[in-house]
Amino acid sequence: MITTLLLFALQDISVLVLDGQSNHNWKAMTPFMKAQLEKGGLCKVEVSTTPRAGLKGEERDAAWAKWRPAFKDHQVVVSNYNGEPWPEEVRTAFVEFVRGGGGFHVVHAANNAFSDWREYNDMIGLGWRAAGFGARVAYDDKGELVRMKPGEGPGAGHGPQHEFQVAIRDEEHPITKGLPKVWMHATDELYHGQRGPAENMQVLATAHSSREKGGTGLHEPMLWVIPFGKGRVVTNVLGHENGKSLQCVGFITILRRSVEWLATAKVTVPAPDNFPTGEKTSSEPK
Ligand code: ZN
Repeated sequence: MITTLLLFALQDISVLVLDGQSNHNWKAMTPFMKAQLEKGGLCKVEVSTTPRAGLKGEERDAAWAKWRPAFKDHQVVVSNYNGEPWPEEVRTAFVEFVRGGGGFHVVHAANNAFSDWREYNDMIGLGWRAAGFGARVAYDDKGELVRMKPGEGPGAGHGPQHEFQVAIRDEEHPITKGLPKVWMHATDELYHGQRGPAENMQVLATAHSSREKGGTGLHEPMLWVIPFGKGRVVTNVLGHENGKSLQCVGFITILRRSVEWLATAKVTVPAPDNFPTGEKTSSEPK
């Protein structure tokens, strides 16, 4: 009986997904990610949607005054948000939530948001920013970590979408432990030149950004973790589009494992049998 209760408790992670503004199809992305997180009873997911973009004057003030997500009622916050700045009160509550031990997971364009919010930049380490904004890190072909100064090398960008291999750089971290070392990711944007303070970053996975595909010739960070106060932050820059990138079994597995790790510091989610191989993508239906 005790075992059953314990299992139930461990498998019922409370997650809050934030959305409401993005240059991506967040209305399709959020329900898919919610369903994947709730599969098998891993998580219980609530969604908090901000006011829409472009409101003005009193309408804007009234709409935003009502948006006060209850971060502290959840173990993990997942951001699918890329839009207007949040109210100061929400920003403060969010920083307190993560600093106090909450988990934060940044998916794809959520790292484009809030370039002038210092704590957010510290949490994500690297964001979609211009070259002069901050440092940049990538790996060379020898596997050496290259750290570049602000203004050195390209700023944020990506070439045309394509299938590409994701390589695990840290095989001991719970999120990546036991996953195939290299796997073919479904069609996605391969982010390069991300910029930020890049402090305390533990890079878990990279992808080779080939020059033929409009990239940098280096191995760009795809997945990394950063401690923030007593909390933890996972950034995953994969996941451009519902219907393609999000359905990749690799993306789904990492999403589920990241949220479990953020909540419990452990990972029990296995690599499924249909995990992509080094040569072949594998996707779930959308
Ligand atoms: Zn995108």
